[in-house]
Amino acid sequence: MKLRRVYPLIIAFVLAPAALMMTVGILILVFGSEARDYVFGTLIVALVATTIIGTAATLAVLYREARVAKLQTDFVNKVSHDLRTPLTSIRMFVETLQMGRLQGDPTRQAEALGIIADEVARLSALINRLLDWARMEAGRRNYQLVPSDVRGIVESAVAALEPQLLIQPAEVVTEIEEHLPRVRADRGALSDALLNLLQNAHKYTGTQKQILVTARLVGPTVLITVKDNGPGIAAPDQKRIFEKFYRAKDPLDRTIEGSGLGLAIVKLIVKAHGGRITVESEPGKGAAFTVALPAYVEEASAA
Ligand code: ADP
Repeated sequence: MKLRRVYPLIIAFVLAPAALMMTVGILILVFGSEARDYVFGTLIVALVATTIIGTAATLAVLYREARVAKLQTDFVNKVSHDLRTPLTSIRMFVETLQMGRLQGDPTRQAEALGIIADEVARLSALINRLLDWARMEAGRRNYQLVPSDVRGIVESAVAALEPQLLIQPAEVVTEIEEHLPRVRADRGALSDALLNLLQNAHKYTGTQKQILVTARLVGPTVLITVKDNGPGIAAPDQKRIFEKFYRAKDPLDRTIEGSGLGLAIVKLIVKAHGGRITVESEPGKGAAFTVALPAYVEEASAA
């Protein structure tokens, strides 16, 4: 949707008549002498003001929609590219194996099969993420919220990061407060959300990766924070990274694989738990994502 095409129409059919009407209204107010003049004048000015506010609000909605549509197009282009790249390399290696070019060289054969397996894993991760997103956006994901131990959830997310640590090591420190209350959670979903934050912390940091995961109680809220020592996130991006398809503009980030859906999914999961997710970051000093969940009030203590 090209918003620029709407502007001349708005100027010709809304703003110009509105300006004229406003002038008439003001003239009546200034030069009118009877009570009736003041009523008409005020009515005209109020109606024109409402028209202008209404047009501005409509434009704001259109602008948002246009932005999402643009992100969506970029996303489809990117996903098509992301799907094609592994497929091309799978096809190449399969053909090489079929032609028997690597026969008699078991090491290279194993290497080729390893690459095929990696690419298949990449493809299925991407497709799973897309399906996950589609299901969530349609509100079809069911959550089984049960009182759950925070330590178990955090530890299972950290354990799920292991395969990535084997490829690119990172120092992962976990600090979980003793006697933390439980939270009402779908363990699988919440652990997926934390894993997503951990994977981001891992992929967006440089070579000396340090990730700190903390869980603590503040008032009636359990705060789980994933902090990294990466480049951080610029203030204007901090507001937008939770939008679907949004990826920060940093050219360095663009070289890192991603769909721009991760944090949007995390936000939906956290919301389904009655919680909130926030980010704190000073560019150059890393980023800290915090998931805030209401602590579960145990029946016995509640009674
Ligand atoms: P993806 O990682 O697939 O691009 P996300 O929704 O997970 O999508 O993240 C959106 C954007 O937020 C990323 O493209 C990246 O620019 C930024 N981002 C997320 N986590 C971090 C982090 N820990 N450090 C720096 N930037 C981050």
